[in-house]
Amino acid sequence: AQNVIYSDSQVPIHGKPGTVQERTFIAVKPDGVQRGLVSEVISRFERRGYKLVGLKLLVPPTDLVKQHYADLSSKPFFNGLVDYMTNGKAPVVGMVWEGPDVIKQGRAMVGATNPLSANPGTIRGDFCLSVGRNIVHGSDSAESAQTEIGLWFGGKGEVVDWSFGNEEWVIS
Ligand code: ADP
Repeated sequence: AQNVIYSDSQVPIHGKPGTVQERTFIAVKPDGVQRGLVSEVISRFERRGYKLVGLKLLVPPTDLVKQHYADLSSKPFFNGLVDYMTNGKAPVVGMVWEGPDVIKQGRAMVGATNPLSANPGTIRGDFCLSVGRNIVHGSDSAESAQTEIGLWFGGKGEVVDWSFGNEEWVIS
């Protein structure tokens, strides 16, 4: 087998077994946790064939969420968004998923930002109705995946390198 070189951030090569794969940041937001949809989100990524390499449950610090959503800081809904993510009525489940094209595929699995525009079959299209309660987050580009993985999983060892025993049956 080839040497597998991983970093905590994704490396955008659409790979075969034993090659470097992309990574993306997916989170179940507090409304998704409150509604018991954590396992549903994890199942969809697992069953697709993606590999879970980072997982944590936390009430995120306000600074973290403000950085995570920095590009939205001028929006009228920003303060409400930060409160929803940080008020502790339910935690966030943060995840790093790894595999071929996982950034783009993860976005496709999450669905459109406004659930009323999200296709049935997507997580948002199947489980929610409101843009302010859209239950899940997925990185929208390689740059944001790298930034978000670093923000949410910056500690040493928080992203784990491991190999599927059955990888040759999923990726060829
Ligand atoms: P996405 O989460 O699909 O990447 P954005 O980055 O545009 O979408 O927005 C981030 C999050 O901000 C959304 O998932 C949603 O929780 C919230 N949001 C976006 N637009 C609105 C809005 N008009 N009203 C309330 N919340 C919003």
